[in-house]
Amino acid sequence: MNPARLLLVVPCYNEEAILRLTYSRLNVLVNQLKQESSIAPDSRICFVNDGSRDKTWMIIEELCGKDPAVTGVSLSRNFGHQSAIMAGLEQHVDQFDCFITIDADLQDDIQAIASMIEKHREGAKVVYGVRSDRSSDSWFKRSTAEGFYVLMQKMGVPVIFNHADFRLVDRRVLQELGNFKEINLFLRGIIPLIGFRNEKVYYNRLEREAGETKYPLSKMLLFAWNGITSFSTFPMRLVLYFGVFNFIIAMGIVVYILFSYLFGFTVPGWTSTMLPLTFFSGSNMMALGLIGEYIGKIYEEVKGRPRYIIEKTINE
Ligand code: UDP
Ligand code: MG
Repeated sequence: MNPARLLLVVPCYNEEAILRLTYSRLNVLVNQLKQESSIAPDSRICFVNDGSRDKTWMIIEELCGKDPAVTGVSLSRNFGHQSAIMAGLEQHVDQFDCFITIDADLQDDIQAIASMIEKHREGAKVVYGVRSDRSSDSWFKRSTAEGFYVLMQKMGVPVIFNHADFRLVDRRVLQELGNFKEINLFLRGIIPLIGFRNEKVYYNRLEREAGETKYPLSKMLLFAWNGITSFSTFPMRLVLYFGVFNFIIAMGIVVYILFSYLFGFTVPGWTSTMLPLTFFSGSNMMALGLIGEYIGKIYEEVKGRPRYIIEKTINE
């Protein structure tokens, strides 16, 4: 069997501090894999510039000029990590046999790539990179991330524990991925839904070598919220349970009011009026807000806007 043509897809948002280093590490690895005939000689690295405001695109252009095995895709603005990955993948779906997505910051151990290729050769169509050690992440990042995976799994979203977006997908899987049209892309949830034979490769999560995280807490929470509401209607059901619970209490209160009326407890208290009023208007608001969240999602999907817009490419 011929070695697979591999494309490494690297989403980059304001990564000027580390991009050259990332390239040189990946380049050494790719050349080594080519030499061992693990991958085809026309395997390449694709850097996707996700609307960076620093010199990221200049550096990508420079790398493309030096090395014909590098290709660059530049989006017209910042579309987010998931869309940047999709842009790099979809742009090349016909040219390669397998695709590995990896962050630009070298936090995912690139040595795991060789094992991914190996498993692909043995027949796996998806290979998930799973972090077996996150001690390099801060306590806060680690516990929020772990809480997130547990929450997702509890809500019935089929995420792989401690797997982010470091993974290999076969061309076949990518073609099927093209049929998932949602704008709110959450690849970690979608890929397991596609099926096919899959494997895991374990690696240690390293520290970011340069630059800083592009995922501050606010963006992380938004990402988690999107992941949950795009995949699970469980929160909506929770509101329903809550509504039923409220209804039962309300019935109790009605009985109490009727009872007071019939037996002549005629001093109606302020508390007994205000308490249910606030309670129920509060829970109503909550339910409405949550339903609004889902309607908002439907609204975005129905518009069917593009997930990303490619402004230019080099070395295609
Ligand atoms: N990234 C991107 N667009 C964004 C935010 C991030 O393409 O809007 C890229 C970023 O350049 C990096 C990867 O996504 O290659 C992961 O981001 P980061 O390392 O900042 O996230 P963390 O590892 O801290 O969760
Ligand atoms: Mg990172």
